[in-house]
Amino acid sequence: MTTTETGMVRNETAPGVAVLEARHVTKEFPVRGNPFGRGKGRVVHAVDDVSLVLYAGRITALVGESGSGKSTFARLLAALHPLTRGEILFKGEKVDARGGRRFREHVSRVQLILQDPFGSFNPVATIARTLMRAVRIHHRTASPARRKAIIDDLLAQVSLRPAAQFTQKYPHELSGGQLQRISIARALAADPAVFLADEPVSSLDVSIRLGVLNLLRKLTEERGVALLYVTHDIASARYFAEDTAVMYAGQLVEHGSSEQVTQNAAHPYTQLLISSAPDPSRADENRVPDIGQPPSLINPPSGCRFHPRCPFAMERCAEEAPPRFAVDDGQWARCWLYADDDEAAAGRAQNARLHGTGAIRRAGRPVPDGEL
Ligand code: ADP
Ligand code: MG
Repeated sequence: MTTTETGMVRNETAPGVAVLEARHVTKEFPVRGNPFGRGKGRVVHAVDDVSLVLYAGRITALVGESGSGKSTFARLLAALHPLTRGEILFKGEKVDARGGRRFREHVSRVQLILQDPFGSFNPVATIARTLMRAVRIHHRTASPARRKAIIDDLLAQVSLRPAAQFTQKYPHELSGGQLQRISIARALAADPAVFLADEPVSSLDVSIRLGVLNLLRKLTEERGVALLYVTHDIASARYFAEDTAVMYAGQLVEHGSSEQVTQNAAHPYTQLLISSAPDPSRADENRVPDIGQPPSLINPPSGCRFHPRCPFAMERCAEEAPPRFAVDDGQWARCWLYADDDEAAAGRAQNARLHGTGAIRRAGRPVPDGEL
C-alpha cells in the first residue's frame, strides 16, 4: 500500500479473485435510417471485442476520450444492454438467461454509479424515500425499524452524519458531492460485489473530487468490492486505480498496471492522452494541444483504428489490425510498433526520441487471442 503525493492510497498487491469478466464483448447499435432509407442496415460499432477482468478489492480504470464506448461497455457489464457478441461471467458463471437466478443476482450485485447524481434521483422524493426503496428491495424481510437503521448505517458509511440531516431533504437541497455520496449509499444497499463508476466525479467541483474517490477506495477495500473506474482523465487513473485499460474507438488498445500505462505508455494513443492532459506543473504551457478527433464508429478506419491520427503510422497500420503485443510484464499494447522487424524498430526509435526515457524500445511478444 502506498500513499501518493495527492493523498490517494493505492493498493499494490497482486490481483485477487476475479468477480466480473468480459470476454470478447461486442456491441453494435443499429443506425436508424432517415426517411429516405439512407443509413438503414448500418451499425455503430460502439464496443468491439473487449475483454477485461475485474477483481475483488481492486480498482481498474477504463480511460478514453468521449465517444470511445466506455459507458456502453459499463452498461453491458451491468446487463443493461444485450450483447451483440461475446460473454459476461459473474463469479465464473455466464450471465445470459434473462430472469434466471444468476441474472437476478448479477443485476443487483453489479451496481452502476453515474456521472450526474442529480439525474439519477427522483426530484420529488425525499432521500429517505429513495433509500427506503432500495433497502426494501434488498432487505425484504426487515421490519420498518430495522430498515430505518439500515438507512442510517448506509449514510454513515458514506460519511453523511447525522443521518437526520439528510433523510428529509430533496435532491435539489443537497450539493453534487453529497448527492453522489447518497447514490453510493443507495448502491451499497444491494451489498454489491462490483461498482461500475462511470465518470463518478467528473461533474463535481474539483475541490471535493478527492473526497468522493477516497470514499470509493475505502469501500472497495473494506468490502472487497471490484471497482471499474470509467474516466476520460488518465492522470486520475494513475493515482486512483491499480490497473488501467485504454479504450479507443470501441476497442482496448493498451492494458497494464496504472504505473506502467501512465509512466511507460506503449500505445501512441495513450501517449497522446497523457501529453494532452492538463499538468499543473507545466502552468506556462497549459494550452490545449490540437490532438485531432476520434473517428466515426459507423465506418471505422481500416486496420488500426488510430492510424489516421498516429504520428508513427506505417503502411501495415492501415491494412491490418495489430494483435496485442506484450511489451512488459503484465502490460500489452495493440500496436504494430512492437512487431519484431526493422521498420517497427525504426518507429520505436522515433517514438523514443519523442518520449525519452519512458519509451519502450523492445519488440513485444504477440499475445494469442485466446489469452485474456
Ligand atoms: P463514452 O462513454 O466513451 O463517451 P459511449 O459508450 O457513450 O462513449 O458511446 C459510444 C458510441 O456509441 C457513440 O458513438 C454513441 O453515440 C453510441 N451509442 C451509445 N449508446 C447508444 C444507443 N443506445 N444507440 C445508438 N448509439 C449509441
Ligand atoms: Mg460516457
